[in-house]
Amino acid sequence: MTTAYSVGARVFLEDPEHGWIPAEISSCKASADGLTLVVTNEGGQQTTVTGNASTLPPLRNPPLLEAADDLATLSILNEPSILHGVQSRYTERKIYTFSGSVLLAVNPFEPVPLYTPEIVKSYIGRRRGELEPHLFAIAEDAFAAMSLDGHGQTIIVSGESGAGKTESAKLVMRYIAAPKTPTLNLDKNSFIEGASLVEQQIQATNPILEAFGNAKTTRNDNSSRFGKYIQLLFDTNRHIVGARVRTYLLERSRLTYQAQTERNYHIFYQICAGLRSETLEELGLEADYSKFHYLNQGGFSTVDESDRDKFHAMQTALRIIGIDEDRQQSIFQLLAALLHLGDINVTQTRSDAAIEEDDPSMARAMEFLGVDPVNFRKWTVKKQITTRSEKIVTNLTAPQAVQVRDSITRFVYACLFEWLVFSINESLAGRYGDAATRAETYIGVLDIYGFEHFDKNSFEQFCINYANEKLQHEFNTYVFKLSQDEYKAEKISWTLIEFEDNQSAIDLMEGKIGILSLLDEESRLPLGTDASFLQKLNAQLDKPANKAVYKMPKFANSAFTVAHYALDVTYQVDGFLEKNRDTVPEEHLALLTSSSNPFLREVLDVALQHREGGDETHAADSSISKIPDPGRTSLVATTARSTAVKKPTLGSIFKSSLGTLMEMLRMTQVHYIRCIKPNQHKKAWEFSSLLVLAQLRASGVLETIRISTAGYPSRWKFEDFARRYHMLINWREGPSLIKREQYKRICVLVLLKAKVDKSQHQFGETKLFLRTGVLANIETSRSDK
Ligand code: ATP
Ligand code: MG
Repeated sequence: MTTAYSVGARVFLEDPEHGWIPAEISSCKASADGLTLVVTNEGGQQTTVTGNASTLPPLRNPPLLEAADDLATLSILNEPSILHGVQSRYTERKIYTFSGSVLLAVNPFEPVPLYTPEIVKSYIGRRRGELEPHLFAIAEDAFAAMSLDGHGQTIIVSGESGAGKTESAKLVMRYIAAPKTPTLNLDKNSFIEGASLVEQQIQATNPILEAFGNAKTTRNDNSSRFGKYIQLLFDTNRHIVGARVRTYLLERSRLTYQAQTERNYHIFYQICAGLRSETLEELGLEADYSKFHYLNQGGFSTVDESDRDKFHAMQTALRIIGIDEDRQQSIFQLLAALLHLGDINVTQTRSDAAIEEDDPSMARAMEFLGVDPVNFRKWTVKKQITTRSEKIVTNLTAPQAVQVRDSITRFVYACLFEWLVFSINESLAGRYGDAATRAETYIGVLDIYGFEHFDKNSFEQFCINYANEKLQHEFNTYVFKLSQDEYKAEKISWTLIEFEDNQSAIDLMEGKIGILSLLDEESRLPLGTDASFLQKLNAQLDKPANKAVYKMPKFANSAFTVAHYALDVTYQVDGFLEKNRDTVPEEHLALLTSSSNPFLREVLDVALQHREGGDETHAADSSISKIPDPGRTSLVATTARSTAVKKPTLGSIFKSSLGTLMEMLRMTQVHYIRCIKPNQHKKAWEFSSLLVLAQLRASGVLETIRISTAGYPSRWKFEDFARRYHMLINWREGPSLIKREQYKRICVLVLLKAKVDKSQHQFGETKLFLRTGVLANIETSRSDK
């Protein structure tokens, strides 16, 4: 074989702004230091480079292979080729690309005509590879695999904030839940016409969970602030009979604080925009919500028209899952109570906190919560410590009192979210049907927050990144196993390929002496502080064994750094303990649980039973016993301070729910959708190479490719290879006349003709395996013909 570097060969030149730019070799000379190339880029500029295979510009695929719909069929699989493949397709408005069995989905940031009834129909019953890469192809794969032997399936949708996970997950769910003779347009967010009640209920979960669990952030106007796993349940005939939703760790801090240009959860704005004026008045709300402290911190004061439409869709959805007008009213009243709570005026007299006896916001909030204002006021400005012999009451400072007030808001909302998920499950489990007894198997869709790294990262980011680290581990194992399995099945000889494992980062976070357990230890000490927690971390974890994963930042003494698989993230310890404890004072908890508002009592009852239950007895859908449960999750950790010793912390709850989720994933056959955000400005069809490259790296897609290039990245069925390249050996008959028993023979002859060295290929049982770069040469000879 000739060297890959020759005149006319295509390469990539590194470029600080664009990542890589395409170029062509115009001259090529052997020199003492290797090869000297003159390279001309697309603009006609020439550059001279000298080096060897590892230092010369990376090679580029022949044009015909370049925008292949499966990156795994590329012959040259270096980073720029992968990136260029995705980019070329995106430029042609092809947002989906396969990378082996993984689907890459690049966000179009505008409506695309890819989900019409015709397209839905075209994917039904088809195998992957027969049609363009698509979400529906993955969904169809999962459905087919499930139908085959009843094995549970999971579709894991991942990607960073704003990459399109939730939209993709919804489309996948719609496709799977849709009647198999669809007349619907999946483009529309409307409810499926002609769909059964179960199907409607499944669709209804989206507007509800998005209203209560999504918010506008700097990265995404509709950012999910919780993780979600939804299992679509099927009977033996593969008919959908119900569903089950599990949610993970809803972000709490947003309820009482929003960063500039961010908002609180959509639902608050939706009720202000959508409720009738009489109801607004009754609840002490106004369409102009700018006066509410909990809603105006991000700087929003104008009403967003779409909130009104979303409100009505959300109301319809609540009705579909069986939450009637009266209950809806109770929900809105609770939400109004929280907004008033945030407006209670806490002042400082000398060193103590004070609230006016007749504070109007307090009166409203207490009326709606059904709690006595006198007691509420008392336990917001004071605290009680119980020692062995007596009870000591001390005064709080104003900031401490505000903390207490805000902790109640976060607690009540978290419980309400829990209650909603419970109610949704009750209806999906067949309160009106019998899903529980008929469910035999399932397809799960996991839409979980992607890796986050901000200027300032806190407990929330830590938990999110911990979850991603765990998922990445599953992904690595999956991809690795997949490629090794194929070698085995094809009976070709191979050596085990080393790949980067992120187990040490996982151990650092969840191990016996890991960050989470040290955090719990410190959270349980009455005098524990964020600073003492950090000291503990540094003392225990800043050791040679952790050198690769744990770092003390040079210029910050209130932070620690974890080297994640995606990148190093520095976490500010400030607030870690409080967030992990997630407590409300015992006295307040008692006031709330004995409220005169029966709805609030029910909400707390459901949420707290979940917390204490520990088993399935309280789950709305406990009767769906045949289907493995990914864990009841995002439970409310809050409870009284005095029982803090025993109470579960948010961190420990999250850890155990993730553990259950991972076990569950291992039981299922997994399918991956990796969403990619092409630019930071939410702009349609703009492609920032460096940004995408970073995501391809972080998602493990490049690592996967590295694993496969270490072996034989090109795998061709004898038939496909023979049909494509028979002309190189002037085979007598045209492709349609080639007989089955001739396929392999043709492959052998093509390889001989192309002078492919023995070390560069292997024949499997049904496939030809080629080393990296081989196919590119053969392809070039083919196009020269
Ligand atoms: P987060 O982690 O913040 O929840 P996400 O990955 O779930 O982010 P989405 O909310 O799904 O991101 O997508 C962000 C936005 O991108 C959507 O609101 C929509 O405007 C656009 N978008 C995503 N996917 C598509 C698509 N297939 N077609 C058109 N627009 C899309
Ligand atoms: Mg989302």
